Amino acid sequence: LMHLTRKLIEIRSMLLSIDQSDALKLPSIVVIGSQSSGKSSVLEAIVGHEFLPKGNNMVTRRPIELTLVHTPAKADGRTPEEYGEFPALGLGKITNFAHIQQTLTDLNLAVPSSEAVSNDAIDLRIYSPNVPDLTLIDLPGYVQISSMDQPETLKEKIAGLCERYIREPNIILAVCAADVDLANSPALRASRKVDPLGLRTIGVITKMDLVPPEQGATILAGNRYPLHLGYVGVVAKSAGKTSSSQSAGAVAKRSENDYFGSHRDYFGAPSSLMVGTDTLRRRLMEVLESSMASSLHGITNAVQLELEEATYQFKVQYNDRRITAESYVAETVDTLKSRFKDFTTQFRKPQVREKLKMMLDEKVMDVLEQLYWLDKRTPELGALAVDSKVKPQDVDPYWRHKLEAASSLLTKSGVGRDSTLLVADGLRALIDSIVSGDPFTYHPRAAERLVQFSHMILRERIGVTSDQVENCIKPFKYEVDVDEREWEQGRGRAAELFQMEITMCESKLKEIKKKVGGGRRLSSLLGYVRGLEEQARERKNRRLAGEEDAQEEPEPESYRYPPGQILDARHAMLYSDRLSILKLRLIALKSKRCKAGPESDVLCPEVFLNVVADKLAYTSTMFINIELLDHFFDQLPRGIDSRLIYDLDRKEIEEFARENPVVKRHLDLQERKDKLEEVMKQLNSLSTLRTDTQPAPRRQ
Ligand code: GDP
Repeated sequence: LMHLTRKLIEIRSMLLSIDQSDALKLPSIVVIGSQSSGKSSVLEAIVGHEFLPKGNNMVTRRPIELTLVHTPAKADGRTPEEYGEFPALGLGKITNFAHIQQTLTDLNLAVPSSEAVSNDAIDLRIYSPNVPDLTLIDLPGYVQISSMDQPETLKEKIAGLCERYIREPNIILAVCAADVDLANSPALRASRKVDPLGLRTIGVITKMDLVPPEQGATILAGNRYPLHLGYVGVVAKSAGKTSSSQSAGAVAKRSENDYFGSHRDYFGAPSSLMVGTDTLRRRLMEVLESSMASSLHGITNAVQLELEEATYQFKVQYNDRRITAESYVAETVDTLKSRFKDFTTQFRKPQVREKLKMMLDEKVMDVLEQLYWLDKRTPELGALAVDSKVKPQDVDPYWRHKLEAASSLLTKSGVGRDSTLLVADGLRALIDSIVSGDPFTYHPRAAERLVQFSHMILRERIGVTSDQVENCIKPFKYEVDVDEREWEQGRGRAAELFQMEITMCESKLKEIKKKVGGGRRLSSLLGYVRGLEEQARERKNRRLAGEEDAQEEPEPESYRYPPGQILDARHAMLYSDRLSILKLRLIALKSKRCKAGPESDVLCPEVFLNVVADKLAYTSTMFINIELLDHFFDQLPRGIDSRLIYDLDRKEIEEFARENPVVKRHLDLQERKDKLEEVMKQLNSLSTLRTDTQPAPRRQ
């Protein structure tokens, strides 16, 4: 049969994990006292080990939720091991109490000194055959005087923290030193505020050895400050530094027994005052047990109510649909993969080829501009194209060289690298758009991992791919064979591009016209700017002819037009010059000569270069597909599996799922309902237990 208190202690910690509201609290013993009142010594005497942080620097900064679990002797008569556990830290069993002490010190010191005290409790469990089943909460000691490095607010902070813990239904263990007037005890003062009759306050008077026994006995009698639960006197001085804490406990106990034993006249019958750590321990068990027992009914009702509410909400909000963190993760991965699959259609060969062609078209236009449009002789080429009498062999070899230069400029412009980077950029943007959508907005770390992984694949492949592409387009650097069909397609495409370029220039011109205030205004501006240029040319000529005064002649000031408009006019001039050459070339492209086929390549460089660009795009696409895209689309889904999920442990899966607030709410409610159900079950089993074992049996 399980002890009632023990069972309720378990239920209590389950309730604490459900929520912190006062309604669902089972009582615990809260230990308060001023600094140096001997609080730690008392707790250590109860546990039988030295394990609390020591030092002048106010070492208790966080409440310690201390759960003592009595471990009964084993069946074979051996005594079970004593150990501590920090459930929240996952350090496992700690059998060395010095380690527990160190861990507590570290946890306390981790609270920044600016904060001084923290409300965040440390959960510590101690399992031992020498402890009763108890829950105790150790709080920072009240500060009496504020010293230099302890700001005034610290006093209030600690008082506030204690106030929160000494509320009902907790039992207050008010620790006071015998050698300090009880009237000055902050612990008693605080407890009187919330429990004036002392119905749930036990006084512990430490340092009984420091006052004459009759004075000690008077305090314990409690006539001055009566407490319903009474006072217990102890001598809990730890016996200095001893090699093993076990013997320290033993020594302390002996000195306490010696002290009270030698003053039996004062403390024994007939006054029968409560003295000694053993008595205190027993007293605490009794009080906690009866307090737990009397809370049982109320807590059962409260849990029942909460359970009904949770069940109702779960039905209404989720129609009783249960989810798990795992199922959510799996769903998320499916979403990711299917979205990924949808997007891969953008990277089929025809789509990639079109993108590359567009990039190469740009390059072709750049080459044409550089080699043809800026060449003053280019109108001649237009005239040749429309003159039916000219034979191809009659054309000036200048144009043959020009075409060869243009073609090599195009093929040697770093197509391998540029096309690979273009596709890689597309893939990067694809991943970005996948991870920027719901539900990844909730999972920034997972999204970041995916982005990192995709970038890694790209980094690994970009070099290889661009080399491979460059290698495969090498033949085009020396010779390009063009057939009739390719020529005709290229001609169509070139004419289209020229038409687009013309439209673009026209719209720019129109914009400028509007900006300067109409066509008439623009033409007078243009006339003016042309005049300026004419003068500049003349000046230059004169200078070249050695006329000295040329330099001194003042620059003609542009009084008539603001400088911004003159700049606009210059741009307009460039656009209209460009337009006239583009139009000439468009006529050539549509001429019979150009239509005749590849033998007119010299006369129609636009067509030839377009065909070259098309071949480059085709070849690049083929090798980018093999070297980059296939790898990428093969590795990424695997990476999603291996990097996103399979290396997550249970805790991480849980965290991942809870990053999504919708899922978190669902999981939280579901968990709350489950826990309440479990608590309810345990409480029900207890009430049957209680009815046939009144009063609850006591061990020890
Ligand atoms: P805390 O600050 O309230 O935790 O107080 P401690 O437990 O650290 O005790 C403060 C000082 O009082 C320490 O030096 C203890 O050794 C000493 N002390 C504690 N209890 C007793 C006792 O019963 N008798 C005597 N003589 N000294 C004690």
